[in-house]
Amino acid sequence: MTGILYVVSTPIGNLGDITLRAIETLKSVDLIASEDTRTTSILLEKYSIKTKTESYHKFSESKKASKIIELLKEGLNVALVSDAGTPLISDPGGVLIGEANKNNIKVVPIGGISAVITLLSSIQKEGEDFKFIGFLPRIKAQIEEIITKNQNENLVFYESPKRIQETLEIIKEKRTNSLISIGRELTKKFEEIKTLKIEDMIEFYKLTPKKGEMVCMIHKEKTDPDETILKEKIKALKGCGFSQKDTVKILEITDNINKNRIKSLYNS
Ligand code: SAM
Repeated sequence: MTGILYVVSTPIGNLGDITLRAIETLKSVDLIASEDTRTTSILLEKYSIKTKTESYHKFSESKKASKIIELLKEGLNVALVSDAGTPLISDPGGVLIGEANKNNIKVVPIGGISAVITLLSSIQKEGEDFKFIGFLPRIKAQIEEIITKNQNENLVFYESPKRIQETLEIIKEKRTNSLISIGRELTKKFEEIKTLKIEDMIEFYKLTPKKGEMVCMIHKEKTDPDETILKEKIKALKGCGFSQKDTVKILEITDNINKNRIKSLYNS
């Protein structure tokens, strides 16, 4: 009988954010494959977990994956953990899962917290959809391309506090009126979750220490309802006796439509 590979989520800051099932799994497996054994040892100590650890990081993925697969084939159970949050979410583990699949080894996810989902669970956004791209690239032209290409997406990414000011300036250049949410130090003592217009976020971060970990979302641009629907709304408001001025005000507030566009349709 081959063993089972458990993919275990661990906290992103607050050591209380771990499930009972994760603790039981980490206690019961034969080996914990960990991105950084020193970081993992803090968690293991907190929950009196005595299981042996072995490093598994992105620089040794292929070599370490073969070794772990051999152990699984021998019948040992292994848990994969990363430094923080959910493995494979901008963290190593893909090679090991791929090899486990090839060798018909059962993979069991033990879910928990992730920075991306923690931010999304605490901000209001348009629609249910979002696009997560991991870390932004470092090159300005590549960042510009991503930001411009994805203006109709709720675009979520990880960013370093050292680069945040520069990144916000690039966003402002390309998406002048955008709204941005940033979750910094989520689940930790100095947790901060802000949603601001891009220019206000830039001002805010001029006064905020460039420290901690952060996850960001550029909100998607609101799309205009198509012209036919808009004309119907104008007609209905006219029918109720609203003046052009009031119609413009109402649709500006309810549908976020540019006033000149409403005026031109009102008179057409
Ligand atoms: N696997 C992790 C997860 O599930 O969220 C992400 C790992 S990725 C290497 C690390 C990045 O996640 C950090 O640089 C930061 O952008 C984001 N992050 C991790 N912990 C965070 C926290 N407590 N608050 C905000 N962002 C965090």
